[in-house]
Amino acid sequence: MEREEALRASPASPRGATPAPYAGRDLEPPGTSALAKRSGAPCRAKRGPLLDASPAPCPTQSGPLKGIAPMRPISLVMDADGVFVDFVGGVLDALEEMSGERMAPEELPDWQIFDRIEARFPGQKKALRDRVVVPGFCESLRPTPGAEEALSRLRAMEEKGKIELLIATSPWDTSPTWMYERTKWFEKRGLHRHQIIHTAVKHPIRADVFVDDKPEHIAAWQKANGGGAYLWDTPHNQEGSTQVRDSKDRTLDLSYDVRHPRLRSWDDFFSLLKATTGVVG
Ligand SMILES: [Mg+2]
Repeated sequence: MEREEALRASPASPRGATPAPYAGRDLEPPGTSALAKRSGAPCRAKRGPLLDASPAPCPTQSGPLKGIAPMRPISLVMDADGVFVDFVGGVLDALEEMSGERMAPEELPDWQIFDRIEARFPGQKKALRDRVVVPGFCESLRPTPGAEEALSRLRAMEEKGKIELLIATSPWDTSPTWMYERTKWFEKRGLHRHQIIHTAVKHPIRADVFVDDKPEHIAAWQKANGGGAYLWDTPHNQEGSTQVRDSKDRTLDLSYDVRHPRLRSWDDFFSLLKATTGVVG
């Protein structure tokens, strides 16, 4: 209920039209404020009924650990494409290279980026999808602005035992080398290959904080885990469907709250982390 009230108090706004939602020190993002209030110790958010109805383990001041600050790293599960990796930028670069035509990311307001391109430049959809599966495409994708600095900062936080970071990324199924290249992309930037999870079904992965640019992933994760999911703002997630598929590729009936708070920058992200978990890096 607290989360629903907080959601109502955090209406979505047009991209770039409002200040960062978590920049304020007194801000308590929905569904996670209890985390910071409990004896200063980070705790796993309350789990939803879908996968685990038992209460989340969280030492309290009245338990046997009274007087001892129970500490464990904050677990983060973060998306790759759109958050760390500029997939859309790579597609638009390929479009320009192949056809001489250029589109701006803002011209792609939803997940149907190839259909949008096809509508403007007939015949390019297939050529581009063929290009995406060519070995080397995935590894050559650029980082998003600030992503490499953010990864360095996250790695430093990991080394200090403050966080545990996993990357959960949907592979391009028809590319024979996508997963290898995606892993290599992150290895080049200091992550261990075991930190990379290749899956399009992310909601069973437990964490304190989940970040993704796909509204469907946020909706599914939120429902399964009860809180702590944050939508990374991109031009291509301003509009969209609410269709979510489970691990058996069945459609789930999940509505996505378009008012869900968005992370609009890395400053937003690190402010959120500090506000909800107390972790500073
Ligand atoms: Mg993504």
